[in-house]
Amino acid sequence: MGLIPYKNEEYLDWSDEKNVEKMRAALKDVGSRLDRSYPAIIGGKRIETDGEIVSVNPANPSQAVGRTARATDREADMALDMATATFEYWSRTSPEARARILLRASAIMKRRRFELLAWEAYEGGKPWAEADAQVAEAIDFLEYYAREMLRLKDGVEIYSIPGEESRYTYQPMGVGVIIAPWNFPTAILTGMSSAAIVTGNTIVMKPSEFTPVIGAVVAEIFEEAGLPEGVLNFLPGYGSEVGDYLVQDARTRFISFTGSMKTGLRINELAARQIENQRWVKRVIAEMGGKDAMVIDDSADLDSAAADIVKSAYGYSGQKCSAASRAILHADVYDEVLNKVVEKAKALRIGVPESADVNVGPVISEPQFEKVASYVDVGKQEGERVLGEDPGDPEDGYFVSPTIFEVERDARVAQEEIFGPVLSVIKARDFDEALRVANDSPYGLTGGVYSKNRDHLERARQEFKAGNVYFNRGITGALVGVQPFGGFGMSGTDSKAGGPDYLPLHMLARTVVERF
Ligand code: NAD
Repeated sequence: MGLIPYKNEEYLDWSDEKNVEKMRAALKDVGSRLDRSYPAIIGGKRIETDGEIVSVNPANPSQAVGRTARATDREADMALDMATATFEYWSRTSPEARARILLRASAIMKRRRFELLAWEAYEGGKPWAEADAQVAEAIDFLEYYAREMLRLKDGVEIYSIPGEESRYTYQPMGVGVIIAPWNFPTAILTGMSSAAIVTGNTIVMKPSEFTPVIGAVVAEIFEEAGLPEGVLNFLPGYGSEVGDYLVQDARTRFISFTGSMKTGLRINELAARQIENQRWVKRVIAEMGGKDAMVIDDSADLDSAAADIVKSAYGYSGQKCSAASRAILHADVYDEVLNKVVEKAKALRIGVPESADVNVGPVISEPQFEKVASYVDVGKQEGERVLGEDPGDPEDGYFVSPTIFEVERDARVAQEEIFGPVLSVIKARDFDEALRVANDSPYGLTGGVYSKNRDHLERARQEFKAGNVYFNRGITGALVGVQPFGGFGMSGTDSKAGGPDYLPLHMLARTVVERF
């Protein structure tokens, strides 16, 4: 296939008034289509369920964004059956034909970009620029994985001995269960689903219960792109209600999960148990939480470091697995960096994401609001709050203001994933101690070092315990194909989404040798 080389989708320029107008129009249009119903889609058929999930706008919880099916074991069983039956056919389609579906889905997303952004604002609580980066990432996944499949379709080179031919190729695996989080409801759901589909698998796609409407929009886009019925079975539901069923079932071949450590470990445990009729060892691809640190040493450009700490800590209200939740500052520059961070964080505008000029929106849900609020209480006891207010009434929207605590390294707020706009600042005697503190976490997703000291950077290059390590820049917003993304330790199985090793995780490698 003659495709242009891969290139990341450009972000929208919000200084261009035309884009602002298009966004306002999309918000109005989507705003007039709220509170509709979205059934499950199994084998192309719309399936209603007894219960429903009511998805609300986190900035205005009395506003329903939409209502979706609420799957039970019955619908999970139907979806697994359909995916199993469709695998026979889909696994035999050509890699080129599968790649074309992804390219078409990408084209549709580009055409419907502002609409997708508007859904992100209403259901995900995302400010415009955050929503845009995320939809661009979804487009990137589609474009990148389409090309990756074309690269891998005939296998990869291995050696042969004289008189023989050895071939190493990849084949589809089977039925994949895709379980996604709410924080990148377009990008991560699209990325995990498209990787599984383009490699010839069929899927049961379960979006987060907090962003099921965006899940329905993504499912519709694959349908519109011409994906045959039954390849993607859309199953909105609560993880606590259908998760175990999907994971434990003998028809499930692999689980691709992104979410919390707790859920990921449960899935890993359940998937490892052999049950009756099971014919394979299930594969689990898991991307989990983080407690990501930025180390600032005494040689760093302090203005730039402070700006990137603020961006990495408070982008999407700190609800990114890659978010900076610990700033570890060298004692000699501690006061200066902290003052700059406080000053810049104070300037952030908090508000309802439908407005153009908002930097920090709400957190996603009432449980998340309660969790973050309880960590604010813990932080107040453990250290000094130098920025932030007590969260208000959740009925007015799930808003938490950017918060900073000065704490010791072993404080709970410095150890546990909060997943909100809360930054713990820790003082380190020297660079050695700073690196030790950064590595003192069960997680290992992202990390950063700000320094002009070559020796420090080279040490961190080897020793910083994280799957994604960034120097002299922010630590969020990994670009597909440019910054393959995934963590060590309790942050997951080090699957690198958007990287060259990702698609093979969804396939079986096959060696065939013929002697002549
Ligand atoms: P979560 O674990 O609560 O939910 C994630 C998904 O798992 C949801 O779809 C949920 O319905 C489902 N689920 C819940 N219980 C289940 C069960 N028993 N069996 C199967 N599925 C079940 O996580 P969340 O709150 O949606 O997402 C936030 C978390 O995701 C954070 O910890 C964040 O760090 C992590 N995350 C990681 C990455 C990464 O790339 N490493 C990316 C984004 C988010």
